[in-house]
Amino acid sequence: MGEFLVFDYMQKHQFEQVVHFYDRSTGLKGITVIHNTTLGPALGGTRIWNYATEEEALIDCLRLARGMTYKSAAAGLNLGGGKTVLIGDAAQVKSEAYFRALGRYVQSLNGRYITAEDVNTSTKDMGYVAMETDHVVGLEGKSGNPSPVTAKGVFYGIKAGLHQKYGSSEIEGRTFAVQGAGQTGYFLINYLVEEGAGEIFFTELNPKHIERMRTEHPQVRFVKPEEIFSQQVDVLSPCALGGALNDQTIPQIKAPIIAGSANNVLLDEETHSRLIMERGILYCPDFVINAGGIINVYHELIGYNKDRAMADAARIYDRVLDIFAIAQKEGISTHAAAKVFAKQRIENIKNLRDNYIPR
Ligand code: NAD
Repeated sequence: MGEFLVFDYMQKHQFEQVVHFYDRSTGLKGITVIHNTTLGPALGGTRIWNYATEEEALIDCLRLARGMTYKSAAAGLNLGGGKTVLIGDAAQVKSEAYFRALGRYVQSLNGRYITAEDVNTSTKDMGYVAMETDHVVGLEGKSGNPSPVTAKGVFYGIKAGLHQKYGSSEIEGRTFAVQGAGQTGYFLINYLVEEGAGEIFFTELNPKHIERMRTEHPQVRFVKPEEIFSQQVDVLSPCALGGALNDQTIPQIKAPIIAGSANNVLLDEETHSRLIMERGILYCPDFVINAGGIINVYHELIGYNKDRAMADAARIYDRVLDIFAIAQKEGISTHAAAKVFAKQRIENIKNLRDNYIPR
């Protein structure tokens, strides 16, 4: 790979700002990227990762920040996209001073960027960040665990998928294969059972999560991890890790609909969204249907109310149907259509603001 030219990349993908910071007292070393703030302040979590190179950290941060722009835009939120990555070994670097140092850098961006927890950071860590800045969400005692709201959004994404394929969004009697029964998969299965789903298969690696399912829903059947993709069901729901849909797994899929919580579930967005489309499988785009988490923290900014956050997550249903319509009209994959949908909203709001109105 040649030299990574950051300004070329920023220009190509329309980034606004890239900030590198180093705190000499704690050794905090990180990057904040603000991709786009047309709709509002850039929101995105802080990830700690032991990146092999600084370039790898930068590229990851750029990619994740851009993803947040589309996620928030498609979710109908007044938020832009941003992200922070901290370079280091999470087991070694974490301390109160470390996170307060981060809070000071977040504050220095004066509200253009709002942070939250992400991989290797917790609500407790964000509590330290909050000692130094107001621009942090996902705090203890505020919006709480986002997973039930995320799962609710996925549930509505599934209903939209069913409506598109079968002309009815009824869950009753439909069959499901869920990969991962952790935070989101567990709540999703609960919602499906409550709505009278037919047979549900699940797979898990964590024995505690397998046991929890056996105890709470003995009718939900465990299958081995390698068997989940080939289940003959109506909906395959990947709720585990990113990259689950790839050259190996896509040919195995028998379900006519894919809709799950996992982020970046397509190993390669373009290749694999096309492969899924060519197989006639309806893919409900991950970043649209798993937006319940960000919808939940957004409500922290506008005054938190759980019922309102849940109601907002339910709007994912209509958005997914709009995205299917774009995909059909343009003859593109649903993943590509979701990006068109998000970009359209950014463009529409930008144009709306081209006259001066005093407030
Ligand atoms: P989690 O860690 O609680 O659950 C994932 C589960 O998948 C774990 O229990 C793990 O044992 C299991 N798993 C991993 N690989 C597996 C495999 N190959 N086969 C079977 N089981 C496997 O995580 P989560 O919070 O439920 O998140 C799941 C996905 O959803 C992630 O991609 C996450 O980024 C995304 N997501 C979560 C939220 C949220 O609110 N929690 C919001 C948006 C997106």
